Parts: sequence; C-alpha cells; structure tokens
Amino acid sequence: MIEVQGLRAGYGAINILWDVSISVRPGELTTIIGPNGAGKTTLLRAIMGLLPVSQGTIQLNDKPLSGIPTWKMPDLGVVMIPEGRMVFKDMTIEENLMLGAFTPKHRAGSRRQCDKAYDMFPRLRERRNQRAGTLSGGEAQMLAMGRGLMADPQVLIIDEPSLGLAPVVVNELFQTLGRLKAEGRTIILVEQSTHRAVGVADHVYLMQGGKVVLSQRAAEVDMEQLHELYFAH
Ligand code: ATP
Repeated sequence: MIEVQGLRAGYGAINILWDVSISVRPGELTTIIGPNGAGKTTLLRAIMGLLPVSQGTIQLNDKPLSGIPTWKMPDLGVVMIPEGRMVFKDMTIEENLMLGAFTPKHRAGSRRQCDKAYDMFPRLRERRNQRAGTLSGGEAQMLAMGRGLMADPQVLIIDEPSLGLAPVVVNELFQTLGRLKAEGRTIILVEQSTHRAVGVADHVYLMQGGKVVLSQRAAEVDMEQLHELYFAH
C-alpha cells in the first residue's frame, strides 16, 4: 500500500535519510523503531510531503505520493498524528476535533465522525467544551488521535504517541492502537517503547543513522538480537 524505495531526504544541505526502503502492507501495523536521531520522524515527514525528496520514490497504492502537497493527504486517506500532539490549547476539544475535517470532502460528514471519535474516546465527549490546554498528556494524545480520525483515514501515521505518558496511560494507548488496527486501518507507528511497539506490530523496521538496518516480521523478531542491533553504532 505504501511503498518507499531508495529514499534520500534531509533538511537543506544536510542529508538525513540514505537509501531508505520500506513497504507497508494494507491493514497491518508497521512500526519503525530506532535510537534518537535515527531519522524516524524525518522519514514520516518525507512521506507526508513535509520535506523535499532528493532521490527515490514514495507510492500509495502504486501511485506516486511524492510531490503531492501535505494538505491534500487526508483526501487520499493518509493522516499524520505528529509527535508532541500539537493540539491548539486555546480552542475547545470539539473545535480541535473539527479541524481534522478541514477539507470540503470531510466537512460534510464531520458531525458523524466527531461522534465516532467520542465513541472511541469517551473522555473527550465529557470534556468537549473544555479548553484543550487543560487536558492531561494522555488526553491530549487521545485528542490528537481523534482529530486524525476525523478524516476517516485508511493510513494513520503516528509519531511517538507514548512520549511522556505514565505506563498505565501507555497501556491504554496501545489498546487503542489495537482497536484501530482491528478496524482495518493501516498504521505506521514510530515508537521509543520498543517492546510494546513490536508487541502490537505485524512488521518491524529498525533505523540507525538514517538507514534501515533491519526489516522483519514482528513474530520473527528476537528481542535480544534487536536490542544488540539497536545499541550498535
Ligand atoms: P527522535 O527519536 O529523537 O525523534 P528520530 O529518529 O525521529 O529521533 P529525526 O527527528 O528524524 O530522528 O532526526 C534525524 C536527524 O535529523 C537528527 O540528527 C536531527 O538533528 C536532524 N534534524 C531534525 N530536524 C531537523 C531540522 N529541522 N533541520 C536540520 N536537522 C534536523
């Protein structure tokens, strides 16, 4: 479904990704793990059209995705839930959710989608008129996910959702990821929480120094070997 081939990308003159190839199968959860600075976020940003690609291709269902502006991605069924949640603190929870249905295609069904988001995250419904700035970290992450779901995406790209959350909240978050997968959505997950990410994933990519150093089905991953590779330089 999403096919990245020989990707090279970076920031201005600084190249970060070197010949990165990943293949994301429909309906699967693909996790990209790796140490800080490995280039995981940069890869997600390149897929989303937030960075120019200097070499290689990105395809969605055999059609080029590179060159398509980021704001058009939700209409193609691709949504990113960024690291740090990026909720608008002075807006209410419902106003934040509605922002996820900003394209004309999604505006029409926004009420229904909003109710679906509340069904998935009942705590957001209880607080719908509250300012988003008053939410806890876990609730803000739910809001960021709910906002992403407003476009009813086929592909969800999620960057470090567990960052800064208490372990019990992280458990809840991973249950939600399982539910999103059960709905048939394709998920690309970047995570620091390696054990949990591998536990929920179908396929695992390990990145290091801007390269993919391991590609394996999650069921075949040997955690000890993975850790050795993870910390190797
Ligand atoms: P982390 O887990 O710390 O978020 P990551 O694997 O997601 O790490 P990236 O955020 O993709 O890593 O960063 C990869 C490299 O790109 C790092 O060396 C980082 O300093 C650099 N980088 C990130 N953003 C920029 C930027 N806007 N301009 C220049 N360099 C950047």
